[in-house]
Amino acid sequence: MTDRVPALFLGHGSPMTTITDNPEVRALRELGRALPKPKAILAITAHWETHGRTHLTVGDSPRTIHDFRGFPQELYDIRYNAPGADWLVDRVGELLGEERIARDAGWGFDHGAWGVVLPMFPEADIPLVAMSLDRALSPAEHLALGERLAPLRDEGVLIVASGNVIHNLALWRGAQGTRPEWALTFRETINTALRTDDDAALLAAAAGRDEPSALAVNSGEHFLPLLYAAGARLPGDAVTIFNDTVDGALSMTSVMMGDKALTPAH
Ligand code: ZN
Repeated sequence: MTDRVPALFLGHGSPMTTITDNPEVRALRELGRALPKPKAILAITAHWETHGRTHLTVGDSPRTIHDFRGFPQELYDIRYNAPGADWLVDRVGELLGEERIARDAGWGFDHGAWGVVLPMFPEADIPLVAMSLDRALSPAEHLALGERLAPLRDEGVLIVASGNVIHNLALWRGAQGTRPEWALTFRETINTALRTDDDAALLAAAAGRDEPSALAVNSGEHFLPLLYAAGARLPGDAVTIFNDTVDGALSMTSVMMGDKALTPAH
């Protein structure tokens, strides 16, 4: 049990979060220092949507992708030169089924991946594989994929799902600096579901049937990674929620499934 690696869902928010000083990025840095060095990282990223299969990055040194516009040059200069890990892709193929996955030498580390992994592991010396969201799947199927990835946690692999529980950029522009009631309601719904291991409530939220869910989940891609971390939960895991901040229509809520001793300070 002591060698078991946590599973994480990390809110990434704006690219600026990575290069400015803020409580959320400080918590990621502290978490990176607290975690035992993993053998490899599997990053499920909101910024990579595919249709029909789950894609995984392959190759010795996948490129860094700057998938945002209108930000300072400093962000475009970032290269996250972590090595790839084709052995991990092979292992994911065993766990999910070869017919489910696609090896993708064209994609690399997008902002969803490096935006959270860089603050935790700035040396970029841990092999990293990015994994897409297959938008042909239902929320329940995403959750099931997370369950099938859980054995990686006993093989030294850190699962990092990256998105935002609340993510509605259209609303965010007008709501910056506020904490709307619907957002606080949705945050409470999700945090309660995580603390009580209530997967049904997470799936109901993903379906966006009530107003808070519809506004928060919006187009879905930033919420769905959470289902991988929830799926990768194992018996005995403590659930630690941190970076639980709301700004307008964006939340940075992050969760760690795993050893309580590794709890981040925030
Ligand atoms: Zn994003």
